[in-house]
Amino acid sequence: MCTLLHPKRSPSVTAEPLAPHALHPTPGIAAATTDLSKVHGSGDTRVVALDRVSIAFREGEFTAIMGPSGCGKSTLMHCAAGLDPVSSGSVRIGTTELSTLDERQLTELRRDRIGFIFQAFNLLPTLTALENITLPMDIAGRKPDRQWLDRVVSMVGLSERLGHRPGQLSGGQQQRVAVARALVSRPAIIFGDEPTGNLDSRAGTEVLGFLRDSVRELGQTVVMVTHDPVAAGFADRVVFLSDGRLVDEMAHPSPDRVLDRLKEFDTRARAS
Ligand code: ADP
Ligand code: MG
Repeated sequence: MCTLLHPKRSPSVTAEPLAPHALHPTPGIAAATTDLSKVHGSGDTRVVALDRVSIAFREGEFTAIMGPSGCGKSTLMHCAAGLDPVSSGSVRIGTTELSTLDERQLTELRRDRIGFIFQAFNLLPTLTALENITLPMDIAGRKPDRQWLDRVVSMVGLSERLGHRPGQLSGGQQQRVAVARALVSRPAIIFGDEPTGNLDSRAGTEVLGFLRDSVRELGQTVVMVTHDPVAAGFADRVVFLSDGRLVDEMAHPSPDRVLDRLKEFDTRARAS
């Protein structure tokens, strides 16, 4: 199924038919946007960060979002995750249309159905690794499934470090805690914004490997914003944004092919 609705590289200037998933939630789709637009500011400071972006993220798939700085990657992630209100269009998480939710329901949806991994690890320094991992579920009053917790912790290689506080862990280990924290509640989807941006390449490769394992072994759905072709090479699919629009996508990316595609965009941008 084609989940990228804009035809390859054509600008989305004309009205296009709504995607089927806009009308009926499609089985196997973890999250989707339809004609999602986001405008920041007004008047002289008005910026169209997203221009009618329609995209679906399939369950159990690892998607990387790429594009030049300022093209709208973080905005897309924030809108798709219900962190930022949209200007127009729709966002669904599973079968839930976010515009139908009030603030409290939205907070619950983010807490219960979405996992987040940010560039800054966002761990609480006074809590142990284990307490950080279970914190969102503790707040929600839910008990983590012990077997699942053990599996997640051992998958990210933290079994020996659960009693350590973030200050006693390396950057890579701290981000592994953040990965485990995102995974432990079995969210419908995990969003990561440059999750390896603060890590050296070895620690980054490890974290990317764990994210890929979570997709392969645990069936997790992951969407990751990155500017790094090597990181994108871990994904099943790369989507390319430019000036707030989806312009291309690539299945089974390799770092070399991603780099070549980015160079083509650069060349075309300079020529136009
Ligand atoms: P990326 O993550 O691809 O670098 P962003 O999504 O952060 O891009 O930003 C897209 C565009 O929206 C940029 O032009 C940016 O300056 C603008 N933008 C992002 N957030 C805000 C904001 N809170 N207020 C005003 N403009 C913003
Ligand atoms: Mg960004």
